[in-house]
Amino acid sequence: MTSISAKLQAVRRRIDAAARAAGRDPAGVSLLAVSKTWPADDVRTAAAAGQRAFGENYVQEGCAKAAELAPLGLAWHFIGPLQSNKTRPVAEAFDWVHSVDRLKIAERLSAQRPAAKGPLAVCLQVNVSGEATKSGCAPADAPALAHAVAALPNLRLRGLMCIPEPSDDAAAQRAPFRELRALYERLQGEGLALDTLSMGMSHDLEAAIAEGATLVRVGTAIFGEREKA
Ligand SMILES: *Cc1c(COP(=O)(O)O)cnc(C)c1O
Repeated sequence: MTSISAKLQAVRRRIDAAARAAGRDPAGVSLLAVSKTWPADDVRTAAAAGQRAFGENYVQEGCAKAAELAPLGLAWHFIGPLQSNKTRPVAEAFDWVHSVDRLKIAERLSAQRPAAKGPLAVCLQVNVSGEATKSGCAPADAPALAHAVAALPNLRLRGLMCIPEPSDDAAAQRAPFRELRALYERLQGEGLALDTLSMGMSHDLEAAIAEGATLVRVGTAIFGEREKA
């Protein structure tokens, strides 16, 4: 079995190669290690290998790991579907939320964010064509939602996120990423100071980087295959 640190290195090499192939600076693509379902000890191992940012999908599990590993000073990103009755622990324990898809969730996160922690960084999840989940706002609704979220006091709108349907075809992988990037550039053109395009996972990070991803969310390629839920 390959160690977590060896797999992390391999993922970093993939990111570097994809960025160079796209004529981009590899430093412009950050790696979020998705540790959902894996124990805190695996996060420790990845942290010891230099990884600082971790993604979690489930509120209880993510909050427990963030609390246990607080002394390590890691950054925690919530990337899963978020129900409105679960926003408080997320607003308190996480540094980022990538899955904001309606104003009610954003308003609650802003109201519940502890002042001492500073603004919560958020991305809007957009249901671009070929999206794998039913979550995410419709692309047509994204501009109004983005401007409303950007106006909330305790959030900082950083960008957009999507989760396309897995595909083995490179062109099919790139189409939804291109659509998200176009929306991102449109919102920047409307004056929103966005710096994060959260797209690309273990199987399609090259396609996402080719289309401008600034953050890729990688689980399986670092920690191994998860048990099917
Ligand atoms: C699980 C998950 C990932 C990581 O997926 P892998 O295929 O394991 O790399 C990325 N983003 C989100 C939103 C996820 O739920």
